[in-house]
Amino acid sequence: NNKGSKAADQGKFEIGLTDAMMGKVCTRFPPEPSGYLHIGHAKAALLNQYFADTYKGKLIIRFDDTNPSKEKSEYEESIKEDLALIGVDSSVVSHTSDFFDQMYELALKLIKDGKAFCDDTEQMTMREERTARIPSKCRDNSIEENLRRFAEMAKGSEEGLKNCLRAKIDYNSPNGTMRDPVIYRCNLTPHHCTGDKWKVYPTYDFACPIVDSLEGVSHALRTNEYRDRNVQYDWMLESLGMRKVTIWDFGRINFVYTLLSKRKLQWFVDQGLVAGWDDPRFPTVRGIRRRGMTIEALKTYILMQGASQNTLLLEWDKLWALNRKIIDPIAPRYVAVLKEGAVVCNIAGATAEIKEHPVHKKNLELGNKKTHYGPKVYLDQEDAKSLEDGEEVTLMDWGNVFVRKIVKDDKGEVTSVDLELHLAGDFKKTKKKLTWLTVDEDATDCILLDYDYLITKKKVEEGDEVKDLVTPESEFRYAAIADGNIRDLKKGDIFQFERKGYFILDAPATATEPAHFIRIPDGKAATMA
Ligand code: ATP
Ligand code: MG
Ligand code: MG
Repeated sequence: NNKGSKAADQGKFEIGLTDAMMGKVCTRFPPEPSGYLHIGHAKAALLNQYFADTYKGKLIIRFDDTNPSKEKSEYEESIKEDLALIGVDSSVVSHTSDFFDQMYELALKLIKDGKAFCDDTEQMTMREERTARIPSKCRDNSIEENLRRFAEMAKGSEEGLKNCLRAKIDYNSPNGTMRDPVIYRCNLTPHHCTGDKWKVYPTYDFACPIVDSLEGVSHALRTNEYRDRNVQYDWMLESLGMRKVTIWDFGRINFVYTLLSKRKLQWFVDQGLVAGWDDPRFPTVRGIRRRGMTIEALKTYILMQGASQNTLLLEWDKLWALNRKIIDPIAPRYVAVLKEGAVVCNIAGATAEIKEHPVHKKNLELGNKKTHYGPKVYLDQEDAKSLEDGEEVTLMDWGNVFVRKIVKDDKGEVTSVDLELHLAGDFKKTKKKLTWLTVDEDATDCILLDYDYLITKKKVEEGDEVKDLVTPESEFRYAAIADGNIRDLKKGDIFQFERKGYFILDAPATATEPAHFIRIPDGKAATMA
């Protein structure tokens, strides 16, 4: 079995495949081209790539396109882009539909061997019979009759449309997946690759083992809710006399306060509750990348869970904390002050000048930034409120000051502060190290965005109505003023606003709009405020 696996310390993994030989491993990631990839898919894709790499083998991206009613070409492009975003190579691409001819022949072979039959039993009745382990009235029809009906199905005729093709396995099996599963269905919707050539399409249960076998897949990775289907998978290949494939199953992942289902995410898009599939609150690959998740953190985290057989309910905090460890040593440091309540302070003894400082004190390779000094600076309201008359505090990257005068309005909001420069003071002796920003032409407007979970329930259960779980307000916008160094940032750049957190540039400034920065969760405080 495949449990000989151990996720050791973070960054070091030892997950092994069963019966794997160097250079002989072929895996596949089989997304249905019916939407965008989410973090659950990312786990499957990364695991498949991991094994292909580890054993110097091959990874096939197979578009599992057996249901023309749900699938579109445009999704194939977006899935390839999403795979590129997480660093998964999609140079070897195939389609289940590439094998429709062969599968049709194989279906005929099963019928001729007496191992499949056409069935026009009503869907409801079929379901009841399956539960009650009752054989279908069509089960013992002759091979000729089955071939005749299957030809009608292939034509999409009226009679054909009433039928489906079922594998004749064991209607009385304790394993429900063996109770004569459906292997072919009619569908008159044109297919995005094969057009109107076909009126019948194989089901996943039939197509998956066959294509795996034909494509030379050595190890088929599947989430373990399919485990009951493993015997059925083996039955298909054995009955058709085809090469066997080793199944390696793994646990699905779920995240707290998160929906991982294309259908439910689509609902949020349709309701206008999010801007699109790349919304930073979405668990899509696009969404989390946009929010500042690095490929490295995602890969490390997912491979850490790789061997687990349990369906895991994962914490976003742990993933973001891992991400933080990766970005912290390379994120340049800048300064921003919230516009609302920003306090202008006068600093006696200060003169206007510009100095260079490293953008990251512990990583000098990142270079320098220009810091403006002057007799007027902004402080955040929260910092200004914490000050006491006569107190000595430190202005970061500058030096100590004495607090000489604090003016408050009748609501207790600080409206101005007088400070006096005291550069001889020892910054090791002060309790408060404050971020500040000189009031001059360098100070730049920007917008800081921060997010909460989209839903209010930690673990979504069967039967929950999504509409009852929507967080009333999950996007927070703050107008801010930042130091002018941020004008040089490019979309996707990650940095830190000191004492505020890590941010990613989402939209650079335009003629009319200031730059938008998204706060990157750091696994600590849930939100910025
Ligand atoms: P959804 O409806 O949420 O999109 P799906 O399983 O129907 O999920 P597919 O495109 O068929 O979507 O999935 C492609 C691969 O991703 C499959 O191998 C599937 O097992 C895997 N996968 C999907 N969701 C998860 C998850 N939450 N955890 C791990 N693997 C997953
Ligand atoms: Mg699926
Ligand atoms: Mg699904």
